[in-house]
Amino acid sequence: MYEVLVIGGGVIGLAIAREVRKAGGGAICIVDEGECGREASWAAAGMLSADVDAHEIDALHGMCSASRDLYPQLAEELYEETAIDIQLDRTGTIAVAFGIKQAAELSKRTSEQTKTGIEVLTLSRRELFELEPALSLEATAGALYPNDWQVENRKLLTALRRYADLNALDIRENTRVGRVIINSGRAVGVETTRGRILAKRIVIATGAWTSFIKLGDDEMPVVVQPVRGQMICFDGPQVLRHVVHSPDGYLVPRFNGRTLAGATSERAGFDNTLTDDARIALLEMATRIGPVFGERKVIDQWSGLRPFAEDGLPVIGEIPGISRLFLATGHYRNGILLAPITARLAAEWLRQVDRVYFTRFGPDRFARRSANTGNC
Ligand SMILES: Cc1cc2nc3c(=O)[nH]c(=O)nc-3n(C[C@H](O)[C@H](O)[C@H](O)COP(=O)(O)OP(=O)(O)OC[C@H]3O[C@@H](n4cnc5c(N)ncnc54)[C@H](O)[C@@H]3O)c2cc1C
Repeated sequence: MYEVLVIGGGVIGLAIAREVRKAGGGAICIVDEGECGREASWAAAGMLSADVDAHEIDALHGMCSASRDLYPQLAEELYEETAIDIQLDRTGTIAVAFGIKQAAELSKRTSEQTKTGIEVLTLSRRELFELEPALSLEATAGALYPNDWQVENRKLLTALRRYADLNALDIRENTRVGRVIINSGRAVGVETTRGRILAKRIVIATGAWTSFIKLGDDEMPVVVQPVRGQMICFDGPQVLRHVVHSPDGYLVPRFNGRTLAGATSERAGFDNTLTDDARIALLEMATRIGPVFGERKVIDQWSGLRPFAEDGLPVIGEIPGISRLFLATGHYRNGILLAPITARLAAEWLRQVDRVYFTRFGPDRFARRSANTGNC
């Protein structure tokens, strides 16, 4: 019997498991259908972009910013815990425009963002090329988002995995969960391809595959769909300093000299096939931003399935009507960014599970009782 069982070992599940371990004792198990950290989280670009695409300061922006702000501490802690540097890069992100129309759109967006309190610096063309000399001379405008950082997501996953190994978290890979076992309205375990696993509390963090999991005899009440993203990667040496965004795609410079170019957004079901069309489109996009990429070798191409809930927002919380079952999915384009705060929220929920006793035995029950019986 585990204290906590996490279904899904992507960035969300691994980050939650670590946070739960840091919060206290008890046996923890992570179950993954394949190898932990090898699905969407591995395919990601690692951008921590709360600001560049934001239109307003809403709850999502607040959560994204709060999660980004947790990264410096997370990077330090993971380094201490695992000796892996997750290469948090705080140089910032540059948004770049080509042509008059895109320049006008960028200017409108940045002035609206400034009004809402988002930190963005409009750049003159001279400043733009000083910051990024490899940009195409056709770039007409630019803006710097100093708080949009990046992290090497594959190192992050490797570090989270190593943390799990070093801290006696039980990892069961190549084990698919088909059903959560519900007993008297309470989640008590899971049925897997390798038998039953029992646990006191269960977290579902299965990304794009979440809707396949049955809750007892019922379907998952949340629909999550896959949105395929393909990326390509160029050989070094490095010519960019910042993450560069354009309306057609982005470039992400890595410390090891590689530059990632992404990403497509395709409704292709649960199909991770790589296509020539995507490769060509990404190559053209990259060459438009930086002509040097037209001469560079494309050394890799990959894809991943982003988990998309109906409204495009993350789904984080207890499943209504079933106690001791928590859902953390639907992170769509922001799962790397949102992993630290999702982990904190899940750990907080796990701490609060025992509040059921406060509900039953707390002094406020007398107030509730007199409200129910009126004044008589
Ligand atoms: C091309 C691309 C670029 C991206 N760029 C960024 C970016 O720059 N910044 C950012 O923040 N986000 C980015 N994202 C989004 C980010 O990758 C996802 O939001 C995030 O990885 C979701 O994490 P996850 O743990 O929920 O899912 P996943 O990483 O997909 O992990 C889910 C895990 O659950 C397991 N699983 C599924 N079903 C079961 C089952 N029934 N039983 C057991 N295990 C199961 C899977 O095997 C998998 O390991 C990008 C995504 C893509 C595809």
